[in-house]
Amino acid sequence: MEDLRAVLLRHGFTFKKQFGQNFLTDENLLDAIVRDAGVTEETTALEIGPGAGALTRALSRRAKRVIAYEIDRTLQPVLAETLSGCDNATVVFRDFAKTDLGEIERGIGEYVVVANLPYYITTPLLMRFVEESRLCRGVTVMVQEEVARRFCAEAGTPEYGAVTAAIARRGSCKITRTVSRNLFVPRPNVDSAVVKIDFTEGGFAVESERAYRAVVRCAFLNRRKTLSNNLTNAFRMSRAEAEAALTALGIDRMARGETLSPVRLGALSDYLYERNFTESSASDKTGAR
Ligand code: SAM
Repeated sequence: MEDLRAVLLRHGFTFKKQFGQNFLTDENLLDAIVRDAGVTEETTALEIGPGAGALTRALSRRAKRVIAYEIDRTLQPVLAETLSGCDNATVVFRDFAKTDLGEIERGIGEYVVVANLPYYITTPLLMRFVEESRLCRGVTVMVQEEVARRFCAEAGTPEYGAVTAAIARRGSCKITRTVSRNLFVPRPNVDSAVVKIDFTEGGFAVESERAYRAVVRCAFLNRRKTLSNNLTNAFRMSRAEAEAALTALGIDRMARGETLSPVRLGALSDYLYERNFTESSASDKTGAR
């Protein structure tokens, strides 16, 4: 098929920075991403941002079905051409951020997400699958390399943060490959990496997802303060109660939140949930406790 750049040019397409449009053209890389995602002829793949359709085509060759959401309607004639013959692929022209994930899931059943994500919304987009999805079995996405390292970071490292802990609760996370900035059109300022988050392995249960989210927020609230300090600021609990909670779980009362693994944060959230310690609202923070 004609080079994608030539197709885009012929359609008078102009790249839009505000939509994070950096397209891939390397067929070997695209096939490798689809392999990384473990796509088979049984798989329904959800793609966010098909762009000129290069990854969509690679997915279509292997998957049972591909559903792609694209915000930029000016890509409609391009995609009509590049995806002609890909009968198992459907493109919906809609802002994915404004879609109801529950509704999509009801329509497609179990699925995996495979995408070269628009950089400007990488984390909120990923967090929707981590926190809201019920039928998603995994997410394999191209993101900025630095962001990829944050997603997969170990506790106690500077990259470790609230997003890492949220992902780790749902599944395993690894970088499958790093990708040079030279492989994108137009060329971005940074290198990228493919991250595979597998919701079918790893992960752990907590008594309350809401409580876990509150504890994770609190653990990274102020990195320079101890966890017991952050707990007394973020939860309705006294310093003595915070220290008692940490001691009961075998956590040093001077520990900082960022040193606790996701599993330990989960244990802390269960402890607080079982004892009805809840987050304080902003107005409570100046209160008596
Ligand atoms: N998948 C293509 C590729 O790999 O060459 C394009 C990837 S490009 C990094 C990101 C794509 O996401 C662009 O086509 C952009 O228009 C689209 N996009 C950006 N924001 C979006 C949103 N909120 N909903 C759906 N698509 C979006």
